[in-house]
Amino acid sequence: MYSFGLIGLGAANSLLLLRMEKEGLLEDAAGIVFDHTFKALNDKTYCFWAHPEEEIIQDLQHEIKHSWSQVVSGNKYENLKGLRYYMVESLALYKRTRVLLERYPNIKIHQQKVTDIIDHSVYLDLLTKNASYQVLKVFDSRPPVINEVIGETVWQSFQGWKVEFDKPIFKPETMRLMDFNIPQNGFTQFMYQLPTSETEALIEMTRFGRELLPEDLAKDQLRNYLLTFNESYRIHDIENGVLPMSQNAEQYHRSSKVISTGSRAGKLKPTTGYAFKNMYAHAKELVLNEAINKTTNVWYGLPSRGGGRFAYYDFLLLFIMKFRPQWGKIIFTRLFRVMPTEEVFKFLDEKSRVGWEIRMFLKLNKLKFLWSVLFSSLAFMSSKPQRWLPIVFSLLALMIDRVSPGSGTNLGIGLLILSLFVVGIPHGALDGYSHNRNLKLPTFVARYLGIMALVILLWLASPIVGLVFFLLYSAWHFGETDLIEWKRSNVGLSVLWGFMLLGIILLSHLNEVNELMNYMSIPDWPIEQNAANSVVQLFFFLSAILSFWFRSAAWGLSLIALALSTQLSLVISFGTYFILQHSLTGWNHLKNSEGWSHSSMFIKALPFTAAAIIIFLVFFQFDRTSLWQWSSYFLIFLSALSLPHIYFMSKLYKNV
Ligand SMILES: Cc1cc2nc3c(=O)[nH]c(=O)nc-3n(C[C@H](O)[C@H](O)[C@H](O)COP(=O)(O)OP(=O)(O)OC[C@H]3O[C@@H](n4cnc5c(N)ncnc54)[C@H](O)[C@@H]3O)c2cc1C
Repeated sequence: MYSFGLIGLGAANSLLLLRMEKEGLLEDAAGIVFDHTFKALNDKTYCFWAHPEEEIIQDLQHEIKHSWSQVVSGNKYENLKGLRYYMVESLALYKRTRVLLERYPNIKIHQQKVTDIIDHSVYLDLLTKNASYQVLKVFDSRPPVINEVIGETVWQSFQGWKVEFDKPIFKPETMRLMDFNIPQNGFTQFMYQLPTSETEALIEMTRFGRELLPEDLAKDQLRNYLLTFNESYRIHDIENGVLPMSQNAEQYHRSSKVISTGSRAGKLKPTTGYAFKNMYAHAKELVLNEAINKTTNVWYGLPSRGGGRFAYYDFLLLFIMKFRPQWGKIIFTRLFRVMPTEEVFKFLDEKSRVGWEIRMFLKLNKLKFLWSVLFSSLAFMSSKPQRWLPIVFSLLALMIDRVSPGSGTNLGIGLLILSLFVVGIPHGALDGYSHNRNLKLPTFVARYLGIMALVILLWLASPIVGLVFFLLYSAWHFGETDLIEWKRSNVGLSVLWGFMLLGIILLSHLNEVNELMNYMSIPDWPIEQNAANSVVQLFFFLSAILSFWFRSAAWGLSLIALALSTQLSLVISFGTYFILQHSLTGWNHLKNSEGWSHSSMFIKALPFTAAAIIIFLVFFQFDRTSLWQWSSYFLIFLSALSLPHIYFMSKLYKNV
């Protein structure tokens, strides 16, 4: 059994190893490292800005190849006052890590790809093609799989040439940042000049856009660019790279024993592609938090930071890069013209003050950002209707009820029944297609119906047991779906939130719940309305604290929707949550994981949806004019449908 494992030995995990050594954590820890590539080439050049006295500069003093104190952008030359711009070649870092590993025979290196991680509650199995290895904790730096929320991912693609001129051309103290004097081709394209001597430099062409920079185009552009120097040169090395510019790159495993690092941990600033300093800081944080040598804290690894204002700025700029990439040149040129570079760096480090940011935005292309605010909000709302629809729906129902008592409720129930067939039942009906390809359809249907029959038998045998069982697995499933959506997936938290949200819905409608229970021959719940109200308040309070603690706006919005729905009837309250939040969320998870379109999902689901409705109408005999009877039978039917659905969705979420 290894006490820790590293998946990948690129920048992030190399920095982590260096930090672990610095803090003396490698002495007697049994570790295992996997990377299928043998890092013998300089595949990347990491640049970053820092103050010379910062720890990173001391720690990497032997790996830093060069640094600059003067920056040119456009026609502006600026001496960086406190900061310098640094360059580290990846090979230097890899070599240092290799030398480090040679000193610690207790850490084994395997030149293999990790194919899967299996979570056993106490330890993890790391699977490779031919073997499995048991570890207590894993730092995973595999490249993230990105599920873009709006449109397609924007990529930062580049090609860098290490060139040597015959005559002195450069000032080794001066680097050129974002030189837009090249054709834009409908993208944001620019050159970097990073001279390491008077004759040598890394000249890099970068593109921000949904399409990658074609190698031949990059070569042509670099050749043309170098022609402007009017001197002969030789190319010593070529570096190619592609980075996702996405706010959806952060990935974390459901097990808190698996900690993402590097790009996978969202350490790559989506609008710039800079990650090196963030990864260095993350390594320090992980070691400081003793995530490495302590027993794992189940909360550890859950992001406790939500977006914040810098994430919103990134969101706006990324939206422009996605849909108006040709604006990049104007925006960046203006940014570096009107604001001192050092202050821009501080802003990119997310350390600027609000006042400075307002001044900056006022000096930038306001209309372009206002366009982004408007259209990105609309795009976000249409991509995440589950965040705002429950609030708008409940508000409208309440307002209509205020004007014409009962009308809002009736209209609301009608719309919910309609959406039950459009998304509620279909979101479960897709189980047959998605995560179940290894089962033949008849076997799948038989298994699904079998589980449903068992649930109905349980209700028949004992309605109370049926109800308790239903509430338990619904709480688990609702909580799991929401927390995966809010990127805070955790078993304990899922169950807690699931119970609280169901508690809020049911206890705030205790009279109606008891009436429904009577139809199902279940005695009244043993709690008075006053006590139930106090529990509801407690659940709101605890949930609000959790949403603040995890800085989750989506969680907060969900609480607002629940609070509004406590003022409406039970059917609307549960229906709003179940259809407009839960089912829409599950639907989007399936859409993203399978890459389907909404219409194809609906069509795929149609036969299963129809079958579900027929089963309900044929097998469940009830008074169709009574909403209570309908509701009670529907609850049983829903509980029967839910269990196999939850089982299959959980399988899907295991891979999240
Ligand atoms: C060309 C290039 C230049 C960049 N320049 C800068 C820069 O100037 N400044 C900056 O701040 N950032 C820069 N970045 C961004 C960022 O710093 C790098 O992408 C950095 O390498 C990210 O570190 P990482 O550990 O997440 O990924 P990597 O360094 O790519 O390491 C991941 C490692 O995991 C291994 N791996 C993948 N899958 C498996 C598997 N299944 N099993 C085992 N091993 C696996 C890979 O072989 C790789 O070695 C650059 C990126 C690129 C691509």
